[in-house]
Formats: sequence, structure tokens, C-alpha cells
Amino acid sequence: MSDQNDDAVPVTPRRMPKAPIEEIGGRKLKPSTLMMGHGYDPVLSEGSLKPPIFLTSTFAFEDAAAGKRHFEGITGKRPGGADGLVYSRFNGPNQEILEDRLSIWDEAEDALVFSSGMSAIATVLLTNVNQGDVVVHSGPLYAATETLINKILGRFGVTFLDFPAGASPDEVSALLEQAKTQAAENGGKVAIIYLESPANPTNALVDIEGVTNARNTVFGEDGAPPIAIDNTFLGPLWQQPLKHGADIVIYSLTKYVGGHSDLVAGGVLGSKAHMDPIRAIRNTIGTICDPNTAWMLMRSLETLELRMTRAGENAEKVCAFLRDHPKVEGLGYLGFISDASQQDIYDRHCSGAGSTFSVFIKGGEAQAFAFLDALKIAKLAVSLGGTETLASLPAAMTHLSVPDDRRAALGITDNLVRISIGVEDPDDLIADFEQALKTV
Ligand SMILES: *Cc1c(COP(=O)(O)O)cnc(C)c1O
Repeated sequence: MSDQNDDAVPVTPRRMPKAPIEEIGGRKLKPSTLMMGHGYDPVLSEGSLKPPIFLTSTFAFEDAAAGKRHFEGITGKRPGGADGLVYSRFNGPNQEILEDRLSIWDEAEDALVFSSGMSAIATVLLTNVNQGDVVVHSGPLYAATETLINKILGRFGVTFLDFPAGASPDEVSALLEQAKTQAAENGGKVAIIYLESPANPTNALVDIEGVTNARNTVFGEDGAPPIAIDNTFLGPLWQQPLKHGADIVIYSLTKYVGGHSDLVAGGVLGSKAHMDPIRAIRNTIGTICDPNTAWMLMRSLETLELRMTRAGENAEKVCAFLRDHPKVEGLGYLGFISDASQQDIYDRHCSGAGSTFSVFIKGGEAQAFAFLDALKIAKLAVSLGGTETLASLPAAMTHLSVPDDRRAALGITDNLVRISIGVEDPDDLIADFEQALKTV
């Protein structure tokens, strides 16, 4: 924008970005503080306190040499991605600021944002998997992830082996040996170890450290397949898998990070070495999130800790009420684990029990339906991690497509109601569950 007084005032570097503030007096600032400004300098955008939404498909180069330099980064001729903005399928200011902020929570070196959790997962798999390869994964996985691995990758000659979420490191080692043999027979390699913990909707935890040790024992440190984990249910506040040996952390940002049930997005975090090839595939296929969604996610990150903390406290109170209720058969809540090895994993990996859990209503589908239909505050909807409390019946909804025998093996019964607790008043929520249980 032109400035009438340009001639009168000495030239000041008004477009020189400020170095990000990450510590004060030797004190490392916490994520909740950094979410208000990290990675953005108002001076660069006319003093606008909040980043503008950059609605553009392409960016003007300073000169031709800069254009060449930027494309060297985009095409991978130089590692580390572009050092400038080029074209909105590759990067944009809103997405880059968001990526800087997102990586803070998991203390990741680098982050990438995507148009959905599934486009993030698909891009990670496309990056790592070739014909003849074997994918080893924990089970159960998010239903669309299972479809992607089992059915879609299967069309391209990729096979898979899976182990139950609670498996011991020895069981995982044995499966990895089997996968190695299978890959050799198919002329491929074990491409990736893909985890989801806690599993949906059973809340079974995977021993990330145990899987890492098994992987290192079976493959050695070099040439080992990366460990990727879908951390949507507990991340980024209550579980940080990079600290337990995982290489790639994946989020559906639609859930807790977005947190208001008003957007769809995904994120992938890890070392630059793991992110660079994933970024290159994202550049090619265009699975990046749009600037408006990136802006919404930055707003959401400012209250992430507040929202998740309150939802976690609410869930604890609601579960304490449900636990002893005569019409409740049991709870799948990480705050009340009954299995010793699951408790051990929880103690090593998790700093909170989350706010998404299962409640088994005494009876079957009819009783569960009666309960769901009687709820007045909790909304009947799939998804989780929003400000509002949601309830659903996986066997009849999200997991309807899962074959009956697999559903039974996973413990997804007709009376399992899944609940995601929001940030409402906890006593109001308890009153709602109490009156709904009366109708059962
Ligand atoms: C919702 C969800 C996904 C998929 O994310 P989208 O944003 O809906 O594409 C993947 N994994 C888990 C655990 C989820 O809850």
C-alpha cells in the first residue's frame, strides 16, 4: 500500500519479519502461549493482529532467479521444500503458519496440513508403499483407513498383516518376521507399520515403545520401516507418540484440534526427513488444506488446551456417574482401565484419559436406541472432539460396514454407545444421561 510520507521519513525496514519469540529469560514458552502469535509477524500484513486469509492461487516472484530457486525446493532438487511461496497447491501463508504452530505441541521438527484426516493418511501411505509391499497395522483402525489399506492398496498388489491393539511386543515381533517373509515372496518390503491408539471405538491402547523395540529388533536401525500412528483420539494434549518412538504422527484435525465440528482437515508431523517425501506427494496430488480452513484451525489452536482440559474433566465426572449406574453394564474409558498391561501402557504413554469413551447399556440395540433417542443435550451424531457432546451407536452407524464376525471379535456390540464429551456444564450433562437412562 502506498505511503504518502515515504519521502519525509527515513527508510525503516517495515517489512523485516520479527524473529519468533520462543523463550523469555531462559524460560521455554508453553504451547498455549505460543499459539497466540508464533510464526506470524503483524508487520508483514499492515499490522493486522490476526493473519489475513490469503485467497490467491499463485504468488508473484521477486525476480526470475527467485522463481527458479523456489521451484528447486518444490521439485525436490533441493531438500526441505520451497523457501518461498509459489502456487497454492504447494503452500500458502496460512497453511505454513498453522504448520509451525501445530508442530509445537508434539515437539515435531516439521508438520504438513491436509484437506482431511483421510487425505493425510492416503498421502502418507502413497508416499511409503510400492507394489509387492506389506503394510503391518494395529487393529481395529478407523473404518476408512482399513478400507484404504485392505481394498484400495490391495488393487495395486499391496498386502497387509494386522495385530490387535493390545498385542505384546513379542507378538508384534513374530508378526513382523512373518511380514518380512511375505514381502520377500511378493518382491517387496515391509513398507510401514501403521498404528492407531487408542483404537476406535474400543479405546484399546497400542504399546508404541513396545512396537518400536520390536521393529528395531527385527529390522535393525537401518532400513527399518517407519512407524506411523493416528493420534486423533488423545493428541496432541494427552499423548505425544514421537516421544515414544513413532516416526510419523497423523491427525484428523476435524476432531479435537478443530474442536468445533465446523471444518474437515488433517495433519502429519515428524522429522524433516520423513516429511519431505510426503510433502512432495502432497505437492503432486494437491491434498493440502485450504487457506480458510487453515485460518479456522489457528483460531482453534488458541483454545486447544482450554477445551481439551475441560472436556477431559467433564468426561471424568460423567464416567464416575455412569460407572455405578444400574442400567450400565460397563465402560470403555481410559480413566478406569481394568487390564494391567493396558494400564501399564497408559501410564507410560498418556497424560490424560481423553473425553471419548464407550458405555455399554444393559440389553441390546433396542435399549441403546432408547437411551440415544432420549438424550436432550447430547446430539446424536458421529465424530468427536467438538465443544458439544455427541453420542452414536458404532455397530449401527460408523461400523455398520464391518462384517459381523470381525465386529464381534473387536468387541463392537449392539449395546456399545460411543460418547464424545464436550465443554458444557458437567452437572447438566449428568442430568441428561440420568434422565435418558431412566427411559431404558
Ligand atoms: C475422523 C477420523 C479419521 C478421518 O478423518 P477425516 O478428517 O474425517 O478425514 C481418521 N482417524 C480417526 C481416528 C478419526 O477419528
